[in-house]
Amino acid sequence: MAEVYKGRFAPSPTGLLHAGSLVAALAGWLDARIHGGQWLVRIEDVDIPRCVPGADQAILQQLAACGMTPDGPVLWQSQRGDAYAAALQGLVHQGWAYPCGCSRKEIESAQAVARHSAAVYPGTCRDGLNGKPARAWRLNVQAVQAALGLPAITHWHDRRLGAQQQNVCAEVGDFVLRRADGLWAYQLAVVLDDAMQGVGHVVRGQDLADNTARQIVLQHALGLPTPQYLHTPLVLGADGEKLSKQNGALALDLQHPVQALNKAAQVLGLPTVNENTPLRQALADWTALQNRNPKAHPR
Ligand code: GLU
Repeated sequence: MAEVYKGRFAPSPTGLLHAGSLVAALAGWLDARIHGGQWLVRIEDVDIPRCVPGADQAILQQLAACGMTPDGPVLWQSQRGDAYAAALQGLVHQGWAYPCGCSRKEIESAQAVARHSAAVYPGTCRDGLNGKPARAWRLNVQAVQAALGLPAITHWHDRRLGAQQQNVCAEVGDFVLRRADGLWAYQLAVVLDDAMQGVGHVVRGQDLADNTARQIVLQHALGLPTPQYLHTPLVLGADGEKLSKQNGALALDLQHPVQALNKAAQVLGLPTVNENTPLRQALADWTALQNRNPKAHPR
């Protein structure tokens, strides 16, 4: 029997949806529809200090106003702490996760000495804390790759961007699974939840593409399947940066959902629609969008 398509939209409730987030939501929703599959919504509220009270419900209302209601129960990451803890414990048992006692300052100075780029953790605590108290927990990427016979360079395919690759050790280093403030890191939560929800298709904004190789390494470490990925074009603010609250993104206007959906459709290269456009046409256009190389078709 063919596997049932399951996709998800995973907003962080740090504010309301805006024109940028609607693009990923619409793309995922259309992709699920065209595959005759299910589209789930997961509220990614692990970063509690950044969450805005009530934003989760408001986001669900915004989606509903656009005609996008999830095909299953909504999952809140804040209720998944036990699963995250169990997974971390498993990784520690395997010798694949270790405590890190470095402060941000210590990491920066170690990076300067090793001439590492600012994004790469230099592995200071990999072989022990040297008397420092444990702060964060990190994945020992090299140990995982060696034990499982994974290549140093993680190759993956994006349905829109094409062939992608990253050397996680060299370009990121041992990344955080549990933060120094005790909060669960996005990478661990997202990998566990995608697997638990049976998500085989991840459709999300292109700004997240850079996390994918890390997530693939972690999926291997946890014995979980790797979904297929599709990263959607970003909406840029007036300053040329990704649209965000900081550069003036306005919350979606619930009074005019079709207008908002049309703007999102335009970003995806779909023709604008009105209430009379058959959904079938929108789905056909969506199929044509896939595997389009954004470099060859700049938007
Ligand atoms: N929660 C993330 C965000 O709102 C999305 C994570 C994902 O789709 O993997 O940016």
